[in-house]
Amino acid sequence: MKEYHPPLGDRSGLRLDFNENTFACSPRVLEALGRISRGDLTRYPEREPVEARVAAHLGLQPQQVLLTNGVDEAIHVLCQTYLDSGTEILLPVPTYTMYEVYASATPAHVVTVPAEDGFRFPLRALLDAITPVTRLIAIANPNSPTGQTASRADLLNLIDAAPHAVVLVDEAYFHFHGETMLDLIGRAPNLIVARTFSKAYGLAGLRLGVLAAPEEQMQWLRRAISPYSVNSVALTCLTAALEDEDYLDWYTGEVLASRPLFESALQRLGVLYWPSQANFVLVEIGRQHREFVTAMRTKGVLVRDRSADPGCDGCVRITLGTREQTEQGIAALEQSLAEIGRSANRSGGSVR
Ligand code: PMP
Repeated sequence: MKEYHPPLGDRSGLRLDFNENTFACSPRVLEALGRISRGDLTRYPEREPVEARVAAHLGLQPQQVLLTNGVDEAIHVLCQTYLDSGTEILLPVPTYTMYEVYASATPAHVVTVPAEDGFRFPLRALLDAITPVTRLIAIANPNSPTGQTASRADLLNLIDAAPHAVVLVDEAYFHFHGETMLDLIGRAPNLIVARTFSKAYGLAGLRLGVLAAPEEQMQWLRRAISPYSVNSVALTCLTAALEDEDYLDWYTGEVLASRPLFESALQRLGVLYWPSQANFVLVEIGRQHREFVTAMRTKGVLVRDRSADPGCDGCVRITLGTREQTEQGIAALEQSLAEIGRSANRSGGSVR
């Protein structure tokens, strides 16, 4: 199995490294936590009423919704459900690391297809890579670490071309993009959509994800998942978070306002970047990427080196938070670039 090293150590500072909500969750979540009694914790988690609540929120039937311990558990369950020896999982790369990590714990073959120029969605190459043993196709939309998107038409094309496989559309960054395939759940028999509460909702520490799938697929997924993987504290908090739409709108608005702010700073500083539809931007620092990440850290700002990802040589991913935090990130970026002696080395519009 591939190794993955998550941030289990000290991450003090401004955390622009893991695409979390950089501020806080809704205050209503804390109020809900305060109402939990000692007696409440003696019971095993009761997920069904909360699944029904989430289904109503998403405009789905309760049978079409499965709560998971973060989308990471959802990916694990999908790999366990659909992958076996003699089967294939198909991934455009670069993409979210955990698809390959969990797939590599199964005997299935991992087939990767490189993104097109500018990290554009490689529809043609994906269609060509579908075989009779393709069982799972995972698409992060928007994608990480690039912030690029696949159009609805391209996703539909893929779904139609692989009726013998399930297509996961991972909408972890939905709130910063606004386009969804959820309305097709149940209409396309092989479409599964994932959403997380780790990003816009600010609940990464509680581990809450959702899978939306047609009932025919759900019957297999429910067999593979542990019935108690979402704990009762998380279930209580989820309901409170869903009720506070104003808070979600406020935080999402901050991130959406941060995006042009950050992108124009990158242009001014002559840093190449890929325009993003998510709460992060991938920038090209070049061969000094390590020094840059260290320089940012000494200024109290954590960013993520993505140089090892396919096609991402010299690239660093920077999360967008509130406008104030983004201004802090921009100041640190400007100082760090000066410190490593990386002057604006490209002319004009620095867009990839
Ligand atoms: N999918 C994508 C595309 C992600 O970037 C992430 C978070 N890094 C996840 C899923 C994992 O989300 P969760 O915290 O719900 O496990």
